[in-house]
Amino acid sequence: MSRAQFLVLALLSVHVLLGALCLATSRGERDSPGLRFWGWGLVVYAAGLAFTLGIVLPKHVANFIGNSLIAFSPVLTIHGVLHYTRRRLNRTASLVGVAATIVVLAAGNFAFAWSAAANIIAPTVIATVLFAYGTAMLVLHPAQNAERPARFVAFVLAAAILVWWVRIVAMPPLLAEPVNRDRLDMVVSTFAIAQILVGVGATFGLLWMEVRLVQWAIAHMAFTDSLTGLLNRRAILARFDEEAARWSRTGTGFALAVFDMDRFKEVNDAHGHLVGDALLRHVGKVLGDAKRTEDVLGRLGGEEFVVLMCGHQSGGATVAAERLRAAVERVPMVHDGRPLAISVSAGIAELPADGTGWDKVFAAADARLYEAKSAGRNRVVGLPAAAAAEQPPAGA
Ligand code: GH3
Ligand code: MG
Ligand code: MG
Repeated sequence: MSRAQFLVLALLSVHVLLGALCLATSRGERDSPGLRFWGWGLVVYAAGLAFTLGIVLPKHVANFIGNSLIAFSPVLTIHGVLHYTRRRLNRTASLVGVAATIVVLAAGNFAFAWSAAANIIAPTVIATVLFAYGTAMLVLHPAQNAERPARFVAFVLAAAILVWWVRIVAMPPLLAEPVNRDRLDMVVSTFAIAQILVGVGATFGLLWMEVRLVQWAIAHMAFTDSLTGLLNRRAILARFDEEAARWSRTGTGFALAVFDMDRFKEVNDAHGHLVGDALLRHVGKVLGDAKRTEDVLGRLGGEEFVVLMCGHQSGGATVAAERLRAAVERVPMVHDGRPLAISVSAGIAELPADGTGWDKVFAAADARLYEAKSAGRNRVVGLPAAAAAEQPPAGA
């Protein structure tokens, strides 16, 4: 076995191993179609290489089948890569490309005497087009939160294209009679080593991408309320500390509004918990639409929502909370074709009048919420000094 054949065998084995790793990783808890298609692409590429070693079949047949598989593999690998972007492969166009390549390979290997040129150039052309598209999409439209690994994979794919075209330029002079066996062996060996590096580099890049996406999903889950999609209690407490620190530096107003749905238990009792859940989502959405962009909305638990109101003048928070209360009253949820009215009560606390830490500020807001409930619900109670901003009962 020549040095080149030996290295092609190494290339083949590495691709089988990487392909198997990707296929195994793509299953389980988190389904990963990107890794699955990439893995199948590597396996098909390795199968193609196995044929081109020409151990069992006549050389022309082996080369034809092997290079056809090699030409098909980038359709799979790039289809996989594009799962990490916001673009997809045009299946018809890519399969037409593969079919055209196979026709050229058939002609080159069986009908005409240009098999070497066909076997080297045809798969490279289709792979170049697909890899260039994958590279461009990874750079231009990478998956959110995976931009850095996407750029890394793009770099490796671009390097792969360079490797193939250096081979195409380097090979033909060596194939001319008399064939320079030593130099040819050297070029094929170098190519195999470069391809191993490309396969390993891109596969690790994709695994890096998976790790980033999983990390992001877990962080997202840890800070999100699963019912409403709003920030959860943990996230709200963290944001409160951040905003309180910002407030202590800048001194611009900072207030906490606690909203509680009025007689929500009755909705659950009358319509069931699923409708109750839908109503929770609805109120979360109305509050989210009505709040200022810079204010932070979350669900504290049960049917309680909080809004961190950043940069308000004293008393301004009460006015803003009143706007949110009115929005909930104005926009009922439609259930079974009928409006299902709900209202909310709110208590406001401000920094520093009510304290500067969460416990004190929240306790003050909660006490005013209780006042709002006692006074008849569907109203906002703010600081006594800002009593002028309090709204009259709105038909509770
Ligand atoms: P009030 O005006 O005094 O606030 O009356 P209320 O009925 O809203 O208050 P209460 O605290 O007595 O009831 C809150 C209810 O919220 C009790 C519970 O069944 C319901 N609840 C809490 N979390 C959820 C949830 O995730 N989904 C649903 N559907 N209901 C919930
Ligand atoms: Mg309630
Ligand atoms: Mg409650």
